[in-house]
Amino acid sequence: MSRAGRSGDGFATRQVHAGVEPDPVTGAILTPIHQTTTYVQPSVDRYRETGYSYSRSRNPTVQALETRLAALEGGADGCAFGTGMAAVHAVMLAFLNAGGHAVVSDVVFGGTLRLCRQVLTRFGVDFTFADTSDPAAVEASVRGETRLILTETPANPTLKLTDIAAVSEIARARGIPHAVDNTLLSPCCQRPFELGADLVVHSTTKYLDGHNATVGGAVICGTEEQAEAVRFVQNAAGSIMSPFVAWLTLQGCKTLSVRMDAQSAAALEIARHLESHPKVERVIYPGLASFPQHALASRQASGYGAMVCCEVRGGLEAGKRMMDAVELWSLAENLGTVESLVTHPVSMTHANLAPEERARLGITDGLIRLSVGIETPADLIADLDQALAGA
Ligand SMILES: *Cc1c(COP(=O)(O)O)cnc(C)c1O
Repeated sequence: MSRAGRSGDGFATRQVHAGVEPDPVTGAILTPIHQTTTYVQPSVDRYRETGYSYSRSRNPTVQALETRLAALEGGADGCAFGTGMAAVHAVMLAFLNAGGHAVVSDVVFGGTLRLCRQVLTRFGVDFTFADTSDPAAVEASVRGETRLILTETPANPTLKLTDIAAVSEIARARGIPHAVDNTLLSPCCQRPFELGADLVVHSTTKYLDGHNATVGGAVICGTEEQAEAVRFVQNAAGSIMSPFVAWLTLQGCKTLSVRMDAQSAAALEIARHLESHPKVERVIYPGLASFPQHALASRQASGYGAMVCCEVRGGLEAGKRMMDAVELWSLAENLGTVESLVTHPVSMTHANLAPEERARLGITDGLIRLSVGIETPADLIADLDQALAGA
């Protein structure tokens, strides 16, 4: 049996081995970067047995990553894309038509909101942005023409959770696919298929790469039929990941659980420290007992992740002073990487939302998003303390 197909392997084994065989020609332990456009055919009416014809359709390095991601999530097959947004877009193109409707979490990555509102509505697709943390709100938003439910949990940036099993049940009863954007926890901490979801979406830019080296995305499908629909869009729209990015992401995946464990442990330590800090107004972290959905977080995920949000006393101005004063932490977009990052959602990732809408969704002006990396936790805490001292 092939190494990729071994059953009963643990998660950490799959993150290193799934999808990859020693190279049949050289024995190279790493899958080569198959940097080629085309594949020579043996005759006019026949492709090679490998099935490769042109690298917009399929590429061996990309396919290795797709197989690995499917193995990590427990799906039937995966499709890798040039960015996380291309992956979200592919799900929309595969399952929605003009006149169709989708229910999407009200708190989502800003780019997802922009894609729905400013691009796809132009093609006659309608969206309801629902508070998916309340299954009754999902139920109330579903219509006869609803063809997709897309939830993001934990949601970027407020970390609001959706009960994946409850929403999946609503979706299944109506024959609507439920796609979960699992970017913020990764399959190391949360596996939506085990909770009844149909599709899993990732920005591989974040935890799966983990090293701030790439932008990429993936859709993992629960059935071969869904994978065929998504793969058709991948080829038709030309949004496949590049071989080099796939190769880098394959290397990143190998340490996913090691990084996640270290980052999550440090995040809990930092969240607790901030919660008792006199300059901090409030802290949002699913692993804290004070988190409103702490019980759900403990039930549906095996870890709380490494995203922590906080608000500094003194509001926006104090928050800005703190964000400008960090030295070890970097003020930047992106999350989930080995480098610790500070982001101000209102001016950075979620700047395209109207102020009233942000306020309604809890994306307050003073909200600070911390993505905890793998540096020594005491150093990260010391840097936050010195930055808070001047805030
Ligand atoms: C970053 C992100 C995306 C978009 O991914 P890109 O790789 O930046 O295109 C989608 N969903 C979530 C939850 C994200 O954090």
